[in-house]
Amino acid sequence: MRVQEPLRYWFLPDHLTGDDSLSRQALRTVKIALAMLLWVPVFIIVYEYVDAPISAAVLGVAGAAVLVVLRSLRWGAPVRAVANAVTGLVCLTLVAISAATGGFDAPAFRWLAVVPLLGILLGGRVSGLVWTAVSLLSGTVFVLIRNHHGKLPSELTQDTLTLVSTCGDLGMISCVAIVTWLFDRSERSAQSMLLQARYAAEAATRAKSSFLANMSHELRTPMNGILGMTNLTLKTPLTRSQRDYLQTVKSSADSLLRIVDDILDFSKVEAGRLTFDQTDFKVADCISEAIQMVASQARSKGLAVSCSIADGVPTIVSGDPFRLRQVLLNLLCNAVKFTEQGRIDVTAETVPSENDAVEIRFRVTDTGVGIPGDKLESIFEAFVQADTSTTRTHGGTGLGLTISAELVELMGGRLQVSSTPGAGSCFEFTATFVRASDPDDSGATREAGRHSPATGVDGHDFHQVSPACDDTLICRNPVDPTVRPRALRRLRVLVADDNPINQRLAEVVLQQAGYDVTLVPNGQEAINRVAAEQFDVLLMDLSMPKVDGLTATSAIRAQESGSVRRLPIVALTANSSREDRDRCTAAGMDGFLVKPLDPAALTEEILRHCPAPAIRD
Ligand code: ADP
Repeated sequence: MRVQEPLRYWFLPDHLTGDDSLSRQALRTVKIALAMLLWVPVFIIVYEYVDAPISAAVLGVAGAAVLVVLRSLRWGAPVRAVANAVTGLVCLTLVAISAATGGFDAPAFRWLAVVPLLGILLGGRVSGLVWTAVSLLSGTVFVLIRNHHGKLPSELTQDTLTLVSTCGDLGMISCVAIVTWLFDRSERSAQSMLLQARYAAEAATRAKSSFLANMSHELRTPMNGILGMTNLTLKTPLTRSQRDYLQTVKSSADSLLRIVDDILDFSKVEAGRLTFDQTDFKVADCISEAIQMVASQARSKGLAVSCSIADGVPTIVSGDPFRLRQVLLNLLCNAVKFTEQGRIDVTAETVPSENDAVEIRFRVTDTGVGIPGDKLESIFEAFVQADTSTTRTHGGTGLGLTISAELVELMGGRLQVSSTPGAGSCFEFTATFVRASDPDDSGATREAGRHSPATGVDGHDFHQVSPACDDTLICRNPVDPTVRPRALRRLRVLVADDNPINQRLAEVVLQQAGYDVTLVPNGQEAINRVAAEQFDVLLMDLSMPKVDGLTATSAIRAQESGSVRRLPIVALTANSSREDRDRCTAAGMDGFLVKPLDPAALTEEILRHCPAPAIRD
């Protein structure tokens, strides 16, 4: 449907139509200038009719000036300057006509009172004050002239003055009425346009949410197959390397499933379709289940996790334990993810409440990296992460806190954070539950176990990369059969990648192709290894902690300067845009491979850079 363009867009320059306050000010200026413009021909006719050429000429010039001023807004002149120009023109025109038609007694003189009003309306307080001073000064001059020298000479007789005055009043009123009607219509069409845009945006959001929900659902179905079959296969007799590969598949599928779950929840949040159960549950059990799910990862990092439930927290409450656990789990996962040493504490205490409901305050405190002050608000927005640098250490979607904040709000509370960078963070929220009629509830102080380092059932299976794979599978070169009679020296390939699964994949693929593989987890280690050892080719990821791939490449090129040897460096990255390719070339890379890894393309690329491998000794 074509939206009718409101009248105001005919006058406003494009750069103003998006800025609400400026465009409103510009619109007001245009309205008043147009009222003046309509007023001008009426008065020219009247003054011509009563034979007052000077006044008619002044009005003609003022009319032309108004047009120029209006056009200047279109040319991009500042709104404030145009507003003052319009006010100034009104003032000058009134003073000039008053002077020509009798000064203090002229009909135009009493319109001088309008000038300060225009000043305030168009330019604001300061401009209003300035134009009040100007019109008061002009008025005072006319009063002084009248008191000291009598009347100013007038081209008009008393009868004509009355006629001009009456026409002026009528003309002014009808012009303002016409302009007001015109702009009211244009405002209404602007509003209907806004309404249409809102309906369209709402429909788009609904479509996006349902697309996300459908996609997440469609993804979950095959994911279940992958996970289920992997788990089944893991229970059968396997070689060590087969078990190792399948564990990698399972761990990747688990991560993917968590992302899909996040997206599904986020789409529900956006569509307002999150649902809540109402069932009796034990608060301590809910907290302990969440802790147990991160226990193994916390343990592997040597982190202590403790939990204490304060006096007065009822043993059993009525609410949605799944949603509460989801929030606690997300906060705990983040705490473990962003803490390298120290501890994580979970506490629960009641908040005094007037009605019968139970309000509980939960806190998850860590001694991790913390969050910079300027990021404390934005981390609750969807897809926002405090650290967005290319050297980012941790993964994630940036959706967890958005979903948690929404869940907490639906549980009648608010999720808040306080943090000291380098010292740790404290996420805190309150949630309201219905008091359950529990005969056992004594309300006594409880310590729900101290986990140091975290102990308990391992809910999530966090994958550990195991050592090198089964040698029986490797030492083949699947690419070029003509190369295979040749006995080649095994080329030495250095792989810099921070993701253990990507490392593992590259390692297996390269070993199967017959290469010697060395793995490093970041750019800094790549620089160090290249300085210390000889490699035939370096495969470099771009986003890595400490030093990213581009910086590492530049540093290696700087190290090489002056020497005849130049190590071929090939980017191995999930960023596939033209700009990324150009950035790699500019940093000194020789090739570019896009993930997911294609084994044939990888070996081909390596052979391109090492065309004549040395004969094995
Ligand atoms: P994700 O963890 O998947 O990136 P979240 O929405 O859970 O997404 O978190 C958003 C960001 O908030 C994280 O990327 C991280 O920068 C910051 N953050 C969250 N929790 C912590 C924490 N306990 N310590 C430090 N930073 C945190």
